Amino acid sequence: MDTTSFTKKSLGVGTVEPALTPPSVDTAQTTFNKKPKVGAGKSKKRDIPEGLWTKCPTCEAMIFDKELDENLKVCPKCGHHFPIGSRERIHSLVETCTFEEMDAGMTSVDMLRFKGASTYKSKLEEYQKNTTLKDAVVTGPGKIGPHRVALGVMDFSFLGGSMGSVVGEKLTRLIERATEKELPVVIISTSGGARMYEGMFSLMQMAKTSAALAYHAQRRLPFISVLTHPTTAGVMASYATLGDLILAEPGAMIGFAGPRVIKDTTQAELPPGFQTAEFLLNHGLIDAIVPRREMKGRLIGYLDFLTAVKKAAAIA
Ligand SMILES: [Zn+2]
Repeated sequence: MDTTSFTKKSLGVGTVEPALTPPSVDTAQTTFNKKPKVGAGKSKKRDIPEGLWTKCPTCEAMIFDKELDENLKVCPKCGHHFPIGSRERIHSLVETCTFEEMDAGMTSVDMLRFKGASTYKSKLEEYQKNTTLKDAVVTGPGKIGPHRVALGVMDFSFLGGSMGSVVGEKLTRLIERATEKELPVVIISTSGGARMYEGMFSLMQMAKTSAALAYHAQRRLPFISVLTHPTTAGVMASYATLGDLILAEPGAMIGFAGPRVIKDTTQAELPPGFQTAEFLLNHGLIDAIVPRREMKGRLIGYLDFLTAVKKAAAIA
């Protein structure tokens, strides 16, 4: 009996003879034994079928995914706004069958032949496959209530909603179409900023989109910019903050550089709530915070007002 148990043990520890004196090494062994237990805990979590429940990061409630989808990805318990895809967002805003997507097939060109940990080309292919989007924005005319608008909706799931030449070009064409057809522009932003893989070509989009909006504004046409979590850097510093009305979703992080960079540069303590939609509303950058479920109704209200002013001006 003894010999059989010995051979079993020696299999686990290896061929080293001193394994016969376990008591002295025991403490070291127990710590080793503890590590796999952490892994085992993780595998227990995996027992919950994926894609059925989501834990709210704010109130920690477990929400049934179907319920979350029906609630436009807003926590029904505390109102936390989860990220929402561009197509779901468009669906939540426009009247059925009124959205006509523009430039649906436009894709980026790897101008710089960028190579980092992986190439830009492979990144694009990966994200196009995983998201079924061609790039980080979907644009086109559609009807919100009775108003025909030029709508652009960004998607954070495509390379962090970064603005490369495709995002810039699609938005510019959308704004130019709006100027030509005398339509209001509504852009829902979410972005990590300019797309580093395209270097200067992505930075140029800031000027291009801003210039297109300037021509749109010259025609006295309204532009409503909606900032969602997160809207930062190059997008925040160009079209996203050029709206006649700037709205934001509750709790959205909005800023240019990250808080750590600002803190290190200014060597000053940042005020509480810095870079949140609520902070920026109090400081005048944002005109209103609108919960996602109220967004469509509020947009219709603002468009009623803004287009009525223009209609009255045209009659006078
Ligand atoms: Zn919650």
